[in-house]
Amino acid sequence: MKILVANLGSTSLKYRLFDFSNGGERMVARGGFERVTDYRVAIESCLAELKNGGYIQGSGDLAAVGFKPILAKGITGCVRMDETVLNAMEACVLSAPAHNPPYIAGVRLFSKIMPATPMIGLFETAFYQWAPEAAMRYAVPDSWYQLGVRRWGYHGASHKFIAERSAELLGRSDVAERVRRLYVDGPNTPVREPHLRVISCHLGGSSSVTGILDGVGIGNSLGMTPQSGLPHNNRVGDLDAFALPLVMRSTGMTLDEAERQLCKESGLKGVSGGYNDVRDLQTQAGQGNAKARLALDLLAHQARHWIGSFMFQLNGADAIVFTAGIAENSAALRAAICRDTDQLGIELDAVKNAQTAAQEAVISTPESRVKIMVIPTNEELVIAREAKRFLEAGK
Ligand code: ADP
Repeated sequence: MKILVANLGSTSLKYRLFDFSNGGERMVARGGFERVTDYRVAIESCLAELKNGGYIQGSGDLAAVGFKPILAKGITGCVRMDETVLNAMEACVLSAPAHNPPYIAGVRLFSKIMPATPMIGLFETAFYQWAPEAAMRYAVPDSWYQLGVRRWGYHGASHKFIAERSAELLGRSDVAERVRRLYVDGPNTPVREPHLRVISCHLGGSSSVTGILDGVGIGNSLGMTPQSGLPHNNRVGDLDAFALPLVMRSTGMTLDEAERQLCKESGLKGVSGGYNDVRDLQTQAGQGNAKARLALDLLAHQARHWIGSFMFQLNGADAIVFTAGIAENSAALRAAICRDTDQLGIELDAVKNAQTAAQEAVISTPESRVKIMVIPTNEELVIAREAKRFLEAGK
């Protein structure tokens, strides 16, 4: 079975082809197009590349195209991307203005070009559908809640990957199996005691921390939109809602401009005065740039804040996992996050930490009660796997 996973940006199309034949699970091709002006051309070029490379004979060889949409009104999980779902995504464009329009348009084009191929979407909110209601509500009037003003949580594909892989590495095949079956059966697959408590830290261009109990997400630092939670590369992260009227009223700034600054001029870039890449921030901080130092400190502080929150909710932790571009690669940031935590049973091994970049490793000391791990994430693989399970479940 071959499944194409497509990542749709407003001007980009990235793809990966997975082959599940003979019980295997291989990524056989990948590619992408930037500065796309005509999406139809990009999709046709993608199919042509796959044909020319000998990976497929035609689109009929593809069992499905998998997508990673973020938000739809009243719909989450792994679903067929039919018109009902696309309309439900249209109903959320105000909450996801950068993400939903290219996905809706892209999926419609894929469906037109390949009408016989199932289009399957794994919503980024899916991993939190069993989180307690109290964890997902903002304390707003019900009329606001009805408009969709609530926490959703995102990065679901990545945190699900970590839930499954960390359970495997921690010797909990029962929990790993529950994670695998999660979007087919719900969290009903029995697991044994004791509880498995994992805190997954996805720190990348956008960042989030998730608490995972026995393979199920109990909440996520991202709230109503992917602009919230930890500071992101250019996006603000959590902010007191009353900052917006203060800035607008005192400067005369328009709402559009305020929104632009919160999305494009804030986060690490805003605090540091222009640097949004942790590599640059580390270089700058090393040269004495105090603002760059502050941006790094702020990211570490916020990560600690959310890890601490989930540690309390989970009644401790068996493992803290670092994943995505920043957390997989930056030993300095991992050390800043795990400093002075020995009284919580969290002890980083400085040497193992320094030696680890973009590979699976345990980087805590043997005595550490909480295992600290690095696990490279693989969101596209999760999407392909879920699309496969979806088809096999006959949905
Ligand atoms: P996304 O997919 O959300 O854009 P990634 O998970 O690929 O993000 O993470 C990208 C970020 O990872 C970069 O913006 C940079 O800050 C950080 N990064 C990548 N490589 C390194 C590295 N070697 N050291 C420190 N940070 C890194």
